[in-house]
Amino acid sequence: MNADFDILLAGGGHSHLGVLRQWASRDRPAGRIGLVSAEPHAWYSGMMPGLVAEHYQTRDCRVGLPKLCAAAEVEFIQGTLVALLPETPELLLATGVTLRSTWLSLNLGSLPWLPEQTDDGMELLSVKPFADFIRRWQQWQEIPESVGIVGGGAAGVELALAMAGRVPSIDLFCADDLLAGHPPRLRRLALRHLQDAKVQVHEHTPIQTVHGNTLVGEGQVRWRGRRLVIATGPSPLGWLRESGLRVDGRGFIEISPSLQSRSHPHVFASGDCASLPGAIHNGVHAVRQASVLATNLMRASIGQPLRHYHPQTHSLALLADGHHGALLSWGAVAAEGRMLGSLKDHFDRRFVRRHRAES
Ligand SMILES: Cc1cc2nc3c(=O)[nH]c(=O)nc-3n(C[C@H](O)[C@H](O)[C@H](O)COP(=O)(O)OP(=O)(O)OC[C@H]3O[C@@H](n4cnc5c(N)ncnc54)[C@H](O)[C@@H]3O)c2cc1C
Repeated sequence: MNADFDILLAGGGHSHLGVLRQWASRDRPAGRIGLVSAEPHAWYSGMMPGLVAEHYQTRDCRVGLPKLCAAAEVEFIQGTLVALLPETPELLLATGVTLRSTWLSLNLGSLPWLPEQTDDGMELLSVKPFADFIRRWQQWQEIPESVGIVGGGAAGVELALAMAGRVPSIDLFCADDLLAGHPPRLRRLALRHLQDAKVQVHEHTPIQTVHGNTLVGEGQVRWRGRRLVIATGPSPLGWLRESGLRVDGRGFIEISPSLQSRSHPHVFASGDCASLPGAIHNGVHAVRQASVLATNLMRASIGQPLRHYHPQTHSLALLADGHHGALLSWGAVAAEGRMLGSLKDHFDRRFVRRHRAES
C-alpha cells in the first residue's frame, strides 16, 4: 500500500464520525484521505448500558466505518496504532506498516485507569474498548456471578443499574461521593435507584490493588469476588502520551481552540484523547467538536483561517436507570423520569441513524 496521505484520521471516535458525515455531504478536502481504526465499527457509548440491559441489540449501538468512509471517499484502514512521530507526522501500526500524512487528526478516545493486579485471581473487565467489553460481558452472562464495579461516575452507575438482576450481587466502589461533579440531587436520586436495585454502594472507598480474589483499598480488603468491572473514567493511551506531542499534567494532548496540538499544529486532536480548558472528557464534547474539526481540516489544507471550538459551560447528561427511564443532570439541575428515558432513547438512536452511511 502507498503510505502517503494528505490527511489521516486516526481512530473511529465520535468526532471522526461527524467529520465523515460532513465530508460525505459537503466540504470534503481535496486529496487522499485515510482513516485508521482498530475495529471496523464505531460504538456509541451512550447506548452501552442499554445494550447490557438488553434494551438494544448490538447492531443498534454501532456504526460501520468502511461504509461511512466510502461515502466520504476516505480509505478505511483497519489496524492498531502503536506509535506516532509527530514531526513528520508518521503513524506506526502493530503490523509494522508506517503511514505518513501532511495533516493528522487524532480521535482515539481513552482507557479507564486500572488498579494494580498482582496475579490472575480476579477477572478484570474494562469498559473500553467497547467491543471487548460487550463480548466478555456476554460470556460472563453464560454463568452469572457476583460482580464488583470500580468507578462511581455516570458510566459506573449506569452499568450497575443495567447489570442489576442479571448477576447475584453488585458492589460499587468510588473514591469520592457517587457522581461527584454532578448536582447533589442527582447523587440522591441515583442512590435511591441503586438501593432499589440492591446494589451495595461504597462511597469514599478508593481501590488501589487487586490481589488474588480480593479488592484492596487503603490497606484493607474491601471485597472478595472473581469478576470486576472497571469504569474508572478516562486516562490517556500510553503510546500517545509518550509520542512527543505536548500533554497536560495527566497526559492528554494539549490543544488550542482550533483543535490543533499546541506543540505540533499540523496535528489535530479531539474527544477524550485531547485536553482543552473547559471541555471535560465526555461524549458530548467529542460529538460537538466534529463540525469544527471537519471544517478546520478542510481549511488548513488550503491555508484558510481556522474556526474555534467554544465548549459549552454545561453538558447535558442523561443516565439510563436500567428500566427505560433516565436521570438528568444539567448544570445545577437534576431530574428523573420515564419521559427522560424516551428522550434519551430518541437522541441515541438518532445519533447512530444519522451516521449510518445509508441514511
Ligand atoms: C458505559 C459508558 C457510557 C457512557 N455514556 C456517555 C454518555 O451517555 N454521554 C457522554 O457524553 N459520554 C458518555 N461516556 C463517555 C464517552 O464514552 C467518551 O467520552 C467518548 O467515547 C469519547 O469519544 P471519543 O470520540 O474521544 O473516542 P471513542 O468514541 O472512545 O473512540 C475511540 C476510537 O479510537 C480507536 N482506537 C483507540 N485506540 C486505537 C489504536 N491504538 N489504534 C487504532 N484505533 C484505536 C477505537 O477503536 C475507537 O474507534 C460513556 C462512557 C462509558 C464507558
